[in-house]
Amino acid sequence: MDAIVLSIMIWIGFTTGLDPYISVPEVRIVSQSELNSVGPPYGDGRDILKNGYEAKYRYIQNDIRFPGYGTIYLLDSFDKTDVTHLALLEHEIFHHFQFVYSISYDCQNQREYEANIIQRQYLKDNKNMLKDKKFLQKFDDKFLNRLKRC
Ligand SMILES: [Zn+2]
Repeated sequence: MDAIVLSIMIWIGFTTGLDPYISVPEVRIVSQSELNSVGPPYGDGRDILKNGYEAKYRYIQNDIRFPGYGTIYLLDSFDKTDVTHLALLEHEIFHHFQFVYSISYDCQNQREYEANIIQRQYLKDNKNMLKDKKFLQKFDDKFLNRLKRC
């Protein structure tokens, strides 16, 4: 898994201009019930694709014991050969960049908007690996602009 995470971090750096040489988030493969239990008090985002695959990113904010500490939770059905799963992992890794770089947004929606824009770019860059070529249509401007509202 480390090699996949690192290659995605390099891709994010190349795509966004952010320095990718930051702390590497921990990735945990968990069952659905474990994933459901991830949330407050540290809770952050929750990302669900229409195809049912789900992942989450959690960080510990303002805790000097864990500088730059972030954990990504992937459902145990994670399939590294499915680019839609990799794209969701990319989405969560981008949240880690947002956290490490303390990028501020007016609201949580804008944070998600930017993560989805980058996720769409990842899917476009890897569209030859998409099993369902129509999958990218989910990330149309209408969908993304709905996220943008605060
Ligand atoms: Zn998200």
